[in-house]
Amino acid sequence: MDCGVETQANIDWDTVYRSCFLCRKVSKLFVFQFKLVHGRLVTNRFLTKINLKDNEQCTFCQNDTETVIHLFWTCSVYTLFWQDFKQWAVNGGELLNMINLMAYLVLGLNPNKNKRLDLYFLIAGLFLWVGKTCNIFPKIRKFLSFSLTFDQD
Ligand SMILES: [Zn+2]
Repeated sequence: MDCGVETQANIDWDTVYRSCFLCRKVSKLFVFQFKLVHGRLVTNRFLTKINLKDNEQCTFCQNDTETVIHLFWTCSVYTLFWQDFKQWAVNGGELLNMINLMAYLVLGLNPNKNKRLDLYFLIAGLFLWVGKTCNIFPKIRKFLSFSLTFDQD
């Protein structure tokens, strides 16, 4: 009797597993972007306000108050990462060398015509955020490994 349900033998479990794996990765990007756009990323500034931390200094540079803009743009540690990111993107043909990276660009607030580059900016943002929450110093090589997990075919 055919009830419309495929038998287990007809299911390509390898494809199902890969799809689910990619869905989980993409879901993390969506959640990260939502929190970023809606100001819901928890920084040391916020943690200090609610008395969960003793100081609001940046996790990495310790020179300024840790805000979202500081973390993703003005922090000297992250600035070095963005310089390496730009060089990587230029070398890969994703970005013209003459284009200056601006905060609104890397934070995805002004989408590019190059959707792949927008995706890389988003992945880089998630990478930096995950690194911040785990106290992992942001390095371009680590980002490249991290971004490869989003390229599963
Ligand atoms: Zn900093």
